Amino acid sequence: MPKDTSGTNAKNNKKTRGRIKAGTVFELWSKAGGRCEFRGCNKPLWQEDLTCAKVNTSNIAHIIAASKNGPRGDKDLSPKLAGDITNLMLLCKEHHTDIIDKAQVDIYTIDKLRLMKKEHEDRILTVTSIIPEAKSKIVKYCSSIGERAIHISGKELACALLPDRYPDGDIIELSLKSPWEDSEKIFWDVEEKSLRTQFNKKVKPYLQDNTIKHLSIFALAPQPLLMLLGSLFTDVYGAEVFQLKRTNNKQDWRWEKKFEEPDFIFEKPEKLRKKTPVLNLSLSGLNHNERIEKILGNDCDIWTIKVKEPNTNVIKAKNQLCAFKEIARKALEEIKYNYPQGTPLNVFPLMPVSANVEFGRLILPRADMPMKIYNMNDKNKDFEYALTINDKGRDK
Ligand SMILES: [Zn+2]
Repeated sequence: MPKDTSGTNAKNNKKTRGRIKAGTVFELWSKAGGRCEFRGCNKPLWQEDLTCAKVNTSNIAHIIAASKNGPRGDKDLSPKLAGDITNLMLLCKEHHTDIIDKAQVDIYTIDKLRLMKKEHEDRILTVTSIIPEAKSKIVKYCSSIGERAIHISGKELACALLPDRYPDGDIIELSLKSPWEDSEKIFWDVEEKSLRTQFNKKVKPYLQDNTIKHLSIFALAPQPLLMLLGSLFTDVYGAEVFQLKRTNNKQDWRWEKKFEEPDFIFEKPEKLRKKTPVLNLSLSGLNHNERIEKILGNDCDIWTIKVKEPNTNVIKAKNQLCAFKEIARKALEEIKYNYPQGTPLNVFPLMPVSANVEFGRLILPRADMPMKIYNMNDKNKDFEYALTINDKGRDK
């Protein structure tokens, strides 16, 4: 902490600090990260604004004034909390002036100031808890869904990593701004080719020379492309897949802490004809078998993974995603032993983003069946074939 060598701030502060122990000042400086705790300010208080000279420009402010007649003062609490760190804020001169201004005392209430202090100190604690091994390379992939173009900002992705990890340099961008929609065949040809090319160019070299230890995958795209993306990463590399949540028009990629696992149900076909295997994945919506039979005929074997009440919020926490991976892996094992080698599995997904990417990741390139993935088309409200994963002749 720089010495008080400035003019008025130092004099004012000395008066206040007379009643505050040196240890408390030190603790407040550390908890505030040496920055103004007023919401949105964050000004560094160890230097002069313009000259950057090393000067202590901090003000220590009382939330409940030290004197009972001061701003937010109270005859009992003022003397009691005069030197208490919970009642002190580290502020720049301007914001100290604001919060002690009599005309503004009603705006800067005790609750409001306490909340500002808490938010600032929580944030400082989060970012200073980061350790170097926690670096993670962000990989971003967006593609338009129906007519909707998708945007994700780098800032919201970085926030989703904290506090367990932090971003390792620039984001790897795999998106292609395709002029086509997923109802057009050309969309799938171009997107698939582009995604494979971008992955081979931008991600593979890092994985091969082991320069990146951990990846964080953020993707928003039609479901077959999400599965393809996952299959390119496979389960070999340390990677975490994120899930977008939308609440009150706000996007949030942060995982919720822990949530009760939904009851995933794995259902076998009523009658096993051992001819055309289908996997119906009904998590975010219910896939009616009739819709599948309309495309593949009614002599196919429909295996199903579903939850009791499919909904778009079915996966909010990592433990729920892990539970899905477990049941999906078991299902793939069981299905493949019922069909001759090389038989393609027809996959009809209605699942959240993260479940699609993880499904792709758990496909074993050599041991699993080729998978023909169908897309639910917003426009036609029907499934259409989109692309094939794990086709040994085609995948590179
Ligand atoms: Zn400030």
